[in-house]
Amino acid sequence: MAESQTSTETDWVSRFADDVIAESERRAPGKPVVVASGLSPSGPIHLGNLREVMTPHLVADEIRRRGLTVRHLISWDDYDRYRKVPAGVAGVDASWAEHIGKPLTSVPAPTGSAYPNWAEHFKAAMAGALDELGVEYDGISQTEQYTAGTYREQILHAMRHRADIDAVLDRYRTKKDPAGGGGGQGTGGRKPQQQKKVDEAELEAAEGSGAADEDDGSGNSAGYFPYKPYCGNCEKDLTVVTSYDDDTTELNYTCSACGFAETVRLSEFNRGKLVWKVDWPMRWAYEGVIFEPSGVDHSSPGSSFVVGGQIVREVFDGVQPIGPMYAFVGISGMAKMSSSKGGVPTPADALEIMEAPLLRWLYARRRPNQSFKIAFDQEIQRLYDEWDSLARKVADGSVLPADAAAYARAVGTAAGELPSTPRPLPYRTLASVADITAGAEDQTLRILSELDPENPLTSLDEARPRLDRAESWITTQVPAEARTIVREESDKELLGSLDEQGRESLRLLLEGLDSHWSLDGLTTLVYGVPKVLAGLAPDAKPTPELKAAQRSFFALLYRLLVSRDTGPRLPTLLLAVGADRVRRLLAG
Ligand SMILES: [Zn+2]
Repeated sequence: MAESQTSTETDWVSRFADDVIAESERRAPGKPVVVASGLSPSGPIHLGNLREVMTPHLVADEIRRRGLTVRHLISWDDYDRYRKVPAGVAGVDASWAEHIGKPLTSVPAPTGSAYPNWAEHFKAAMAGALDELGVEYDGISQTEQYTAGTYREQILHAMRHRADIDAVLDRYRTKKDPAGGGGGQGTGGRKPQQQKKVDEAELEAAEGSGAADEDDGSGNSAGYFPYKPYCGNCEKDLTVVTSYDDDTTELNYTCSACGFAETVRLSEFNRGKLVWKVDWPMRWAYEGVIFEPSGVDHSSPGSSFVVGGQIVREVFDGVQPIGPMYAFVGISGMAKMSSSKGGVPTPADALEIMEAPLLRWLYARRRPNQSFKIAFDQEIQRLYDEWDSLARKVADGSVLPADAAAYARAVGTAAGELPSTPRPLPYRTLASVADITAGAEDQTLRILSELDPENPLTSLDEARPRLDRAESWITTQVPAEARTIVREESDKELLGSLDEQGRESLRLLLEGLDSHWSLDGLTTLVYGVPKVLAGLAPDAKPTPELKAAQRSFFALLYRLLVSRDTGPRLPTLLLAVGADRVRRLLAG
């Protein structure tokens, strides 16, 4: 770290911001700082690829907080070829295979889509999630750039220097590339991450990546050409350049898909693109990118980041961006039933079950080289507990500096605070209430108001949007067999089989119900009944015998209320069931 840095913040975002600002000042003094991400809308954009955006976003946001101007470019790699038909996408069938090889913007959108083509359809979902996450960016459609001739000079330059490019690529051709070619455009991320352990959905995403068959322009008997036209007849990229004249820029190609051949002038032709390993470094130079991270597989020899670093310097007279490798982000426990959008969890899916600040926090608190999982399973409740505990530490000033920085980056951006929940009731409580009420609003309001009778909730809006997220989690992620179903009728057989001790415990509970009707009160009551039965004072220290008695008392209550041995925390469950029904189920 430079000693001149006065920043007191100690998190990774600040440290990258320091480096990026210094590098930008060195390379382009007085100019806006440029950071970049790339996304390929080749299908539903996988939640794992969000790190491609969040890493530069957080750094860009820190730079904005310091009062500097930043451009965060998101390159929509929508001029990439359509590689395969993703499975399980609504409105898409096997007939989409006929479009393989065309640019993503030339493939029809799924049936029923409001968008004009495939790429726009999947971009829209991602753009919606990025808005909700507070990500400020300049989106660049590579279809627009290429078809407008924006990169004309760079394409002609690359073609003139094709022998130099070929020589750089040749340095790596003999080496084994563990990433299988590296730098293909994945479903969602243009830089698919090497994954050791993959679940079905991740495998699906990786399959779509085409990393293994990424064409770098080699293997052409007519010579090496870093440019590929899309066919003028069938629009596919199964073309082979057969000759090129540097002086006239005349290029001949034939299409192996339909047999079409034509002669074009690259000085005026706009229907083709540079191969990936040349395209990426070309754009680093063209945009002056200072910071662009990529997936971990890009550290391998022959990967597009490594090769690109040489091409940008030797061919485009540019400099490689600061490019940390980010580690894999996994998903834990996404229910199959919710993978209706192509079998992969998307950022929009995550935002249905958690608030944007929580999702931002997951990225802000971990260094890019640390992998982590995004919880769609029970773990989300523990995560929310941790988040609420952090918020309390921030409020009372006991928070550690790095944790405070991560919190600040999560709850807002340089532009301001993100929407939050006015009364952030514990997520696990909201989830339990949603579980038991199945979303009935009047019942939900009644229960949530009774949690803290001194300070009752007056409207469900106070608990939103967190309440809505917890309800979505229950309905989309918790399997039917794990849902809580409150008994309609009392379990007469079980009640009849109770001994004196059991009957007395229920009598004590029912007797105290009205005077303890709040979350805290019922907590005291359910733990207190076994103490009273054992002849102990209400504040008695728990002994092993007492703990065993409490466990069996709780199990009895669960069986009588929900016919199972466990369930939502008992105080929440009792409030949710309601005093009258509790009496009916426990008194027989
Ligand atoms: Zn063709």
